[in-house]
Amino acid sequence: MYGKENRKTLKTMTDEKFHILVVDDSGSAQDLIRIYLSRTDIKAAFAENGIQAIQKAKSNPFDLILMDVWLPDIDGIEVCRLLKSDARTKDIPVIFVTVASDKKSLLRGFQAGAVDYITKPFEKEELLARVTTHLRLKRYMEELVIARRKAEESEKLKMAFLSNMSHEIRTPMNSIIGFAELLQDRNLTAKERKEFSDIIISSGEQLLSIIDEILEVSKEEAGELNLFEQQFSLRKFMKELESVFVKRLKDKPVELVVYVPEDAPDMVVADKVRLKQIFDNLLSNAEKFTPEGVIEIGYKLLPKRIPVLEFYVKDTGIGIPKDKQDTIFERFTQVEDNLTQNFTGTGLGLSIVKRLVTFMGGYVSLQSEPGKGSTFTFTLPYKKPSDKTLSTDEKGNKPFFPPDNAWLGKTLLIADDVQQVFAFFRETLKRTGVEMLYAKDGKEALEIYQNHKKEIDVALIDIQMPEVNGLEVAKTIRKQDKSLPLVAQTGLALNIGKEEAEKAGFNDVIYKPIRLDMLVKILKKYLD
Ligand code: ADP
Repeated sequence: MYGKENRKTLKTMTDEKFHILVVDDSGSAQDLIRIYLSRTDIKAAFAENGIQAIQKAKSNPFDLILMDVWLPDIDGIEVCRLLKSDARTKDIPVIFVTVASDKKSLLRGFQAGAVDYITKPFEKEELLARVTTHLRLKRYMEELVIARRKAEESEKLKMAFLSNMSHEIRTPMNSIIGFAELLQDRNLTAKERKEFSDIIISSGEQLLSIIDEILEVSKEEAGELNLFEQQFSLRKFMKELESVFVKRLKDKPVELVVYVPEDAPDMVVADKVRLKQIFDNLLSNAEKFTPEGVIEIGYKLLPKRIPVLEFYVKDTGIGIPKDKQDTIFERFTQVEDNLTQNFTGTGLGLSIVKRLVTFMGGYVSLQSEPGKGSTFTFTLPYKKPSDKTLSTDEKGNKPFFPPDNAWLGKTLLIADDVQQVFAFFRETLKRTGVEMLYAKDGKEALEIYQNHKKEIDVALIDIQMPEVNGLEVAKTIRKQDKSLPLVAQTGLALNIGKEEAEKAGFNDVIYKPIRLDMLVKILKKYLD
């Protein structure tokens, strides 16, 4: 029965009222229905005959029609048939109102497309129950149609993403494999060798940035974004960006300009790595979509009650059509078709930018005109350093690589099941004179540790290893030795957080692929 609870459910389904059309020539029937519906979410319009009903239905998106079978002009069943044959009205459910004895009409009514019937004289409860049920069904149907459309759309985007991704990965992969093969030729000149290895390095970096983007998205999805704030000089940061990007633009008629007003603050507290990631994404896009002209970057302080820094990346490139300006911030969305237009990219960059900026408490906006260029602006809360002491980052940097034989007499334990990783350490560090002990799994790492614990100065331990994993290795070593520096190495994909590694006893974590500067920086801490 239609009670209080039913009414509530109906209301919660939508904030809007339902609109129904009541087709009945009897004024008293109309009045009755008006009274019945008066304290519900249903609003009724009325038609007195078939022609009027059809006209009203065509011009208003009714949610339901309640139709008397006996009408003065056309018979209600015929009206229903006409409504069902018109695209504008065919989806409106029709409920017939008829006298109980008229079984024949009922059958014809269903054949004409009606969904239900009510017999006269009707009761309030029954009328409301039937009408409500069909309104609800119709709403569910509509929601299903929307959900299906969305699912299809996102499926299409995912497929486009996958095919695009395979293209994005294969391209640098081809260069890496191709040029690595070429490098094996003994007759190469030193210049060729340098050129080929440069290509391999830059393709590797390209591949890495694609993997980073995908990981970034999965981290966001797992809610694992975290910030690491430090204090640094923004002016210096902009200079560093400039020097990297000027190199990338060297073969293009595009000038890079950095503009920072005199009164803009310099020292800030922020997540430098994330800020760089945002700029990298925006600048890569600016570079990609600007065939010639100028790319300008800069920032200023917006003197609001809570002051914010406003950064921008402005280009004189191809611009973005108005209708695409919102959607490009969504994942996998690209204005052009990559394969035909020769633009590379995963369609993830801007979605990452938006999420990072939002996560850091700012917002992103875009101004763009096709053919003229685009300006991406984003804000971040301005946090001043609390005291004047500068972070280590700001102190004069010592030369980055230790001098030859600087670590002679020191011993490093390296545990990694992938032998190439060890080969990388061996080649990288051999000039320093450090002795390297290699363990191919966790068990061996513990054995070597037991036999050489007196000599080992630092242990670099991979987290994911067969037999005994890196966390277990660290825990076991920590039981005997509280002070040996333990450095975990891990692939980001494992999502082993710093905290987890620290809990197991590690002093530091470095992420693969291991960057030479990162590795040296950490080893210096313990070996210098
Ligand atoms: P992608 O990795 O494909 O560049 P993004 O999310 O970074 O993915 O960008 C999405 C799309 O937005 C791009 O494919 C491009 O169509 C458009 N776009 C982004 N930045 C610019 C820009 N500076 N100028 C013109 N179009 C841009």
